[in-house]
Amino acid sequence: MNEQVQDSFNFKTEVKQLLHILVHSLYKDRDIFLRELVSNASDAMTRMHFEMLTNRDVLDPDAELAIHVEVPEVAEGEPKQIIIKDSGIGMTKDELVTNLGTIAQSGAREFLAKMGEDETLDPGDVIGQFGVGFYSVFMIADEVRVVSRSYKKRAKAAVWISDGSESFRVEPAEKEDRGTEIHIILKKDAEEFANEWKLKQIVKKHSDFVRYPVYVGDDKEQANRQESLWRKSPSDVTAEEYKQFYQQMTMDFEEPVATVHFASDMPVNVRALLFVPKKREGGILAARKEPGVMLYSHNVLIQEYCTDLLPNWLSFVDGVVDSEDISLNVSRETVQSNRIMAQLAKTVKGRVLRELKKLATDEPEKYVSFWGEFGRFFKEAVATDFSAKEDVLPLFRYVSSKSDGKLTSLDEYIERMPESQTEIYYVLGDSIKSVANSPHLDPFKARDLEVLYWVDPIDPFVSPMLAEYKEKKLRNVDDASIELPELAEEAAEDKPESKLEEADFNRVIGRFVTTLGSRVTEVRASKVLKNSPIRLVSPEDETNRDMQRIQRILDQNYEVPKKIVEVNRNHPLIANLAHLVSDSPDNELINLTIEQLYDSALVQEGLHPNPTEMVPRIQQLLELATAS
Ligand code: ADP
Ligand code: MG
Repeated sequence: MNEQVQDSFNFKTEVKQLLHILVHSLYKDRDIFLRELVSNASDAMTRMHFEMLTNRDVLDPDAELAIHVEVPEVAEGEPKQIIIKDSGIGMTKDELVTNLGTIAQSGAREFLAKMGEDETLDPGDVIGQFGVGFYSVFMIADEVRVVSRSYKKRAKAAVWISDGSESFRVEPAEKEDRGTEIHIILKKDAEEFANEWKLKQIVKKHSDFVRYPVYVGDDKEQANRQESLWRKSPSDVTAEEYKQFYQQMTMDFEEPVATVHFASDMPVNVRALLFVPKKREGGILAARKEPGVMLYSHNVLIQEYCTDLLPNWLSFVDGVVDSEDISLNVSRETVQSNRIMAQLAKTVKGRVLRELKKLATDEPEKYVSFWGEFGRFFKEAVATDFSAKEDVLPLFRYVSSKSDGKLTSLDEYIERMPESQTEIYYVLGDSIKSVANSPHLDPFKARDLEVLYWVDPIDPFVSPMLAEYKEKKLRNVDDASIELPELAEEAAEDKPESKLEEADFNRVIGRFVTTLGSRVTEVRASKVLKNSPIRLVSPEDETNRDMQRIQRILDQNYEVPKKIVEVNRNHPLIANLAHLVSDSPDNELINLTIEQLYDSALVQEGLHPNPTEMVPRIQQLLELATAS
C-alpha cells in the first residue's frame, strides 16, 4: 500500500554507542573496513551457493559469484565514493532493518567492553571478532547506502541509508540484479581510499584467500589469489601463507598453536589444512560462527561447518578437508552414514592427534598453553565418551609430587615408577598448594612414590571413569586400603620412639570421638602418617567419594561426608594434646584443637563447605596461645 513511504529506525543503544566510537575517533588501521565488507559479501555468496544446491528457482541463477570493488567518477568538489558489489543472497527490506540495525547486538556490547578495558586497542583489531564488522565502514564513511535485492524472486529491492548517527532509514530502490551493493560516501579525511591501486593492495593484504574472485575497477584480473592452499604440497607453502590463510578464514588474529597440513590417497583421497587455535574463544567466533571444518570435494565447498569429521572433543579444530572421494551432491544425511566419511574421519582425527603429540614433544611450552586452554575438552571426553579414552589419555598432563611444578604425562609417570610399584597414585583437591601438603602424601613421600595432583574442578568427574591406564590401576591416595611396601630400615632407625603411653593415646582418641560425634564414622590410630597429626580417609563402603567434591563445587545440597579420622600417635601435637587430656581434661584448648584439626583436614580434602567459618575459632586459639 504505502510502499513509497520511507521508514526511519533508531539503532539499538549498544550499536549507537559503537557507532559513536567509530565515527568520532581517529584510527590508524582503517583499511580493515574492506576486509569486513568483503567477508560479508563472501558469506552472502556462500549462502547463495548452498541455497542453489537444492533450489534453482532464484533470481539470476547463472550470475557469477564474485565481488566487485569500484571507485565511481564523481563531479569535481563532490565527496569521493567506493562501491562494493556482490551477487550473494541479498537482503529484503525487512532483513536490511534487522541485520543492520535493530537486532540485539551482544557483540556490540562485548566490543564496547573490550575497548573500554584497554585504551590502546585499535578497533580494527577487534571489531571483526564481535559480529559487528559491518559498522567498521563508518570509520571512513560520511554516509553509507546499502542497496540490496534478495534472491527470492518476488522480493523488491530496497536501500538502507545512514550517516552512522542515531538512526537509519530504509526506502524502496531500483536494482535489477541479485545481491548487495555498499555505496560508501567517504569522509574528507578518508579520500585516500578512493584509489583502485590502494584498494587492490588492501584486498591482497586482508582478503587474499577469500573463496570468490574479487575484482577491483575494470581490471579483468582478480585482485585476490583465491587459492586453495590446502591443495598445494606442504613444502610449497610458507609460514606466512599459512598464517594469512588462517587469519582470513577465521578473523582470529592470534597465531594458531598448531597447523596440520597433509595429503593422502589411501585409504581415501584427502587434502586437508587444519588449525588448532590459540584460544578457546575470541577471534574464532568471528568469521567461523559454528564448530566444524569446511568440507570440500573437487575444490567445491560442500559443507561449511562439517562436524562429522572430528569428535566433539576436537571441535575447536578448524580448517578445510577436501576429498575427491565424496560425491558433489552429498547431502547432510548421507554425509553421516557414508563409509568414505568414516574413513575420512579416522584419517583426519589420526593426523590431528599425531600433530598434538608432536607438539607436546617438540614444543612443550606451547603444549602447556594448549593443555590449559583445551585440556577440559579431553577430560570431558573421558567422562562422556568411553571410546575416547585411548585417544586422549596419552595427551593428559598433571603436576605431580615429583614434577617440580611442571606438567607430566601418564606415560612419563609410568616410566619413573620403581619396579615394585604397580599402581598410579593421585590426590584430589582444590589447588596444588593444598594437595602438596595433604597428609595422604605422608606415606608416599616416605617411600619416595610419585603422586599426581588432580586439582582441576573437573577431575573428580573424570576419576570414576579412569579406573586404569596401560593396565595400571589408578588409585586415590585417600583410599585406606592401598597397600604400600613396609619401610623396613627406616622403621628401625629413625621412627621416633612413641612417647605416648597406650592409655594416654587411647584417651586422646576418646576425646576425638566425643568431640566429633556422629560427624565421623570412626577414629583410629594411623599406620602411615608421618608429618601430619591427622588425616581423613574414606570408609571402604563409600562408593561416591569423588562425587562429594563435585557436589560441594556445584553447591548441591552438600553435606559434609562422614569420614574415618586417623590420628598420628607420633606427632608432637598429638602428644601435647594427650598430656593436656591427662593433666587438665577440662582445658578448653582440647576441644578447640580437635575441632580445628578436623576443619583443617576438611579444607585439605576440598570438602569444607565454608572455610571462613573457622576464623573465629582460630582467633580464640591464638588468644589462648598468646595469653601464657
Ligand atoms: P557478521 O558478518 O559477523 O554477521 P556484520 O556486522 O559484518 O556481522 O554483518 C551483519 C549482518 O548483515 C550479517 O550477518 C548479514 O546478515 C548482513 N549482511 C551484511 N553484509 C551483507 C551482504 N553483503 N549480503 C547479505 N547480507 C549481509
Ligand atoms: Mg561480517
